[in-house]
Order: sequence, then C-alpha cells, then structure tokens
Amino acid sequence: MSGIVGYIGWQNAVPILIDTLKRLEYRGYDSTGIAVIKDSSLGIRKRVGDIDVLKESLYKEPLNGMIGIGHTRWATHGKPTEENAHPHIAGKIAIVHNGIIENYLSLKESLLKEGRKFLSDTDTEVIAHLIDKNFTPSAGSGPAGSGLESAVQKTLKEISGTYALVAISPADPEKIVIARNENPIVIGLGRGEFFIASDASAILSYVKDIIFLDDGEIAVIKKEGVQVYDRNNKQVEKNIRRLGLNPILMEKGGYKHFILKEIFEQPRAIWDTVRGRVSGGEIIFEDFKLSSSDIKKIKRIFITGCGTSWHAGLIGKFMIEGLSRIPVEVDISSELRYRNPIIDSDTLIIAISESGETVDTIASLRDGKKKGAKTVSICNTIESSLSRESVSTINIHAGPEISVASTKTFTSSLSALYILSVYLAKLKGVIDDNETAGLINDIVTVMGKIEDVMGLEEEIEGLSKMFYEKKGFLYLGRGINYPVALEGAMKMKELSYIYAEGYPGGEMKHGPIALIDEHTPVVILAPQNILYEKSLIDIEEVKARNGVVIVFATEGDTEVVKMARHVLYVPHASEYLTPIIMSIPLQFLAYYVALRRGLNVDRPRNLAKSVTVE
Ligand code: GLU
Repeated sequence: MSGIVGYIGWQNAVPILIDTLKRLEYRGYDSTGIAVIKDSSLGIRKRVGDIDVLKESLYKEPLNGMIGIGHTRWATHGKPTEENAHPHIAGKIAIVHNGIIENYLSLKESLLKEGRKFLSDTDTEVIAHLIDKNFTPSAGSGPAGSGLESAVQKTLKEISGTYALVAISPADPEKIVIARNENPIVIGLGRGEFFIASDASAILSYVKDIIFLDDGEIAVIKKEGVQVYDRNNKQVEKNIRRLGLNPILMEKGGYKHFILKEIFEQPRAIWDTVRGRVSGGEIIFEDFKLSSSDIKKIKRIFITGCGTSWHAGLIGKFMIEGLSRIPVEVDISSELRYRNPIIDSDTLIIAISESGETVDTIASLRDGKKKGAKTVSICNTIESSLSRESVSTINIHAGPEISVASTKTFTSSLSALYILSVYLAKLKGVIDDNETAGLINDIVTVMGKIEDVMGLEEEIEGLSKMFYEKKGFLYLGRGINYPVALEGAMKMKELSYIYAEGYPGGEMKHGPIALIDEHTPVVILAPQNILYEKSLIDIEEVKARNGVVIVFATEGDTEVVKMARHVLYVPHASEYLTPIIMSIPLQFLAYYVALRRGLNVDRPRNLAKSVTVE
C-alpha cells in the first residue's frame, strides 16, 4: 500500500526515484510525486495517476539533484488530487509519508491558529508543518542535536499514528532523515550512495546490503554513512542483511501480465514452500520453534489474516482440525484485534500475511502475544514486521508477487498450512510415521497435477467470452471448498469489478437463491469427495431456476456432464489439497473475464497489495 523511496549519493536522484517507485507500483496507488534538492532549493513534481504521467512531465521539464524523495500515494485522508499527492512542503521541509496520523485534526487546528497555511486535505501535511516549526538550522548531529533530525524527533513526540516518513530540507541539505512506526522502510547501502524504499525488492538492482528500520527508530542518512537512533536518542547498532532476492523474478518473463506469470509459477512456488521442509517421509521444520510438549499443551489455535490470507486461514482450519484434532478458530484480523478473544498461554496464533506488514494482522498477533499465546507467522517476505514479531516464521518462498491480486501466495500459503497441519498432527501423536509419509507424498505429487490444471487456460479463456458482460456471479462450494468459493468470488471482484459472492452450497437456499436467473452465472465446485452428492443437489437447484451453471469437477466424473453445459475437469487430489487444485481455474476465469473487459489486471483500481493502514 503506497510506497516511499529516497536517494542520496553521487548520481542524479530523479531516474532512480522513478525506477524504484515503478518497482513499488504493485503495492497500489493513485498519485505520485518526487522532490529533489538542487542548489539550496527544492524541485517538486506531482501527478495524479500513473508513474508514467509523472515520468512524462519530467521529460518535458526535467528536474535534477543528488538528494531526493518520492512517493506513490494510496489516499486515506483527502481525494487523489495533485494538491494531496506527496511530497508535502512546509517552509524549507519536504516530506513523504505512508500511514495515518490519528491526531492530525487537533494539530492542524493549532497550526492554523498560528497562521500556517495548508495546501492539502491530508493528515500528512501537519507533519511537514511541525518539522518546519521545530527546525533550527545548525550543524548539530544526532537527533539530540539540532538540524533536520532533531526537528523530526520533536515532531514524532507530537504526532500519534502510523508512519514511514522521509524528510529532506535545503536548509540542512546534506542528509535524509527517515523514521518508522508500524509502516515498513528499509535502507540500501551502496558505495557513497544510499537508497530508501518501503520494501527491499524495490532497490535490489542497486544494492545487496540492507538495514531494516524498527519501530521507534530514526535514521540520519548522509553520503558518508547511516546512523540509527532509538526513541531515547541512543545510537543503535543495526544488523546489515544481505539480500537474497533475484531481480529476474521481478520481470514479466515473456508473459503478458505479471498475474498470468504468477498463476503459471504456482507449481514452482508451491514446491519452494514444501522442499527443504520434507525429507525421507518426514517433515523438518527448522523455522518452527515449538517442541512436541509445547504442541501437546495447545488447547486452541487462532488463525488470523485479511482478504486472501483469511481465506487461506479458513481452509487451514479444515486441515489442522482434521489432521491434528486441535480446535481452530479463524478470524479476520481487523475483527480479532478489537474483540477481546479468549487467548492464553495454551493458545497458538497463526498469523498469515503475504507482505508481513498488514497492520491489522500485526496488531492481532501482538495482542495474542500479550495474553501469553505462542505465535507462528506465514509470510512471503523475509524480515517482515510480522515475522520479526512472531516466535516461529514459515516463509513461503513464493518469490515476489507483483500483481496486486494474490494468486501464487494464496496456494503457497495453503501448502505451508498443510505442512504445518501434518507437522502438528505428528508432534501431537495423532498420526504415525506411515500416515505422515502418505500425507507428504500427497503434496509432493500435487505439483504435477497443478501442471495439468494449467492446461485448462484455453478452455477458460473461451468460456470468458460468454460471461464477461454479466453483472454478477455466484460461487458455491462446500466444506473445505467453501473458502475456495470465497476466494474465487473475490478474485472476480478484484480483477473484473463484477459483483461476485461466495457461499456455502447448502446455504444458498437461505438467501442467495433469490439472485438466480438466466443472467447470473453460478460457479459450482463439485469435486468427488464426501460432499459430492450434496454438490449435485446444488447444481439441480440452480438449474431448476434457469441459472447458468459452470461446474468444476473431478476428472473421470461422468455424472456431472449430464447435468451442466459448462463442465471443467481438474485432476483428483486428496481432500486437504483439493483447494489448491480448485483455486487455479478460478484465477484464470477472473483473469480472462477482466482482460475482456479491458481492465488493468495487474493493478486493479483502489486496491493495495499490502495494507499498512487500518
Ligand atoms: N495518510 C496519507 C495520505 O492520505 C498517506 C497515505 C499513504 O500511505 O499513501 O496522504
């Protein structure tokens, strides 16, 4: 969600700012802007819409300077307009900010009384004014001294809320000051030059060594080096992490869109989640720090996440309860954090977030930790806030996911949950060695089956012709495939902007059945499992009301084809792994429907990849 970048060094900052902003595009944004320092003054350019619009304006009227900041804004306070776009300027201060300043109204009121003029409706602008007000130019060093860093530090004491913040000033021109509270920001260490970004993937083609700022820290970045201070002005020795990301993975690799590439990457992504954790019929979970006796004490598990991660959690409940017999509750993180759940030291919290920066998920995990719970996170980002806050972390190793709508991170999270379920069941003594080996074999063989599912692409593309102008879709699934219906419906909404609803098949007659007519396609997941016969009833009930049915069934099913005109076959997989197989054709369906509608499939409107605000 929104992105921040910065540069200080010996090159022109502008192309670097534009390039790194482009690499943060996937996070979602509505407007962009940059500011650079040149000859003791600030050059600023802001534009609504795509980064390319900003880039074009820079071709026409170039800016340059060797210190600069940039931003992609995802509006929280004030419409996406040029005035509201960042950087925000007050006096000789320019800042970019991700997050929300909760007390901005009262601060703005006092600043207005002092005669300060506001040019935007954002919460962010108060920060710029406060830094400007607190600024006393001098050569002092460290936040305790004077200059930009001490002005930033004074300001941080006055504001409350969440932020990743980058400030520059021509009145103190040899530095960039950055600060963090609950919104990620990293510093890339080059030779005589430093790069700042919301996430490391944006700067990986420039640097390998990274410093991750923690909450409450301020960094002062000069051409000569970086100094980091904590809340009490104490200098902090930060670990330097060597980045293992591969820049090639960030490219489209011949595919028309990132999302298509990422859909096709799923066999590899799932294998990368699984391999290294299975060997000789056993699960080796080095990143899981709970012992067998810890597991035996666990009375209840909470799985929490938002959006796609919540759907993965709902499927995880079937896996964990089914295999380990530990009761599981699944909660949307923005609900869990405010509902005072019954959590104690016998509780395990599994927090799922692809970015590991989802603010509600982090808050739920923290709340659980305070109550004594054990914690595990499932993330796709090494060194994310969530993984650093949890005792155990399962990195899914799916590789960078650039498309805003999740595909491979969903199925990789499911694979991680599956491995975890088998592991918990084994440690708890519910399954023996043979059963464990059998369950591991199931996921190892599922990879080949996913390759087969990819073969459905063409058929689904053809199907999309018939449905892309529909006003609504209904998705039905039962049991472990009910959350797959939720995820399928969400993918359709996200990519195509067509209203879609996911429902448990058996619940359809309690409401959504009223939606059914010849114009509303109903996608029914009917794999051959214990609920198969029930799914056939769902098909009949829809047909009896002139509904158009698209069925996803198991290969070799000869019944279903007699009942529905549109039947697509997926290979058979074990009960717990069917959701992986079933969700892939639904990704294709949403993709091709959206494509026919001429939409931006990699960056749907209003959406953000990692939701770092409430
Ligand atoms: N709250 C700020 C705004 O609306 C920052 C939003 C963002 O993180 O992009 O301008």
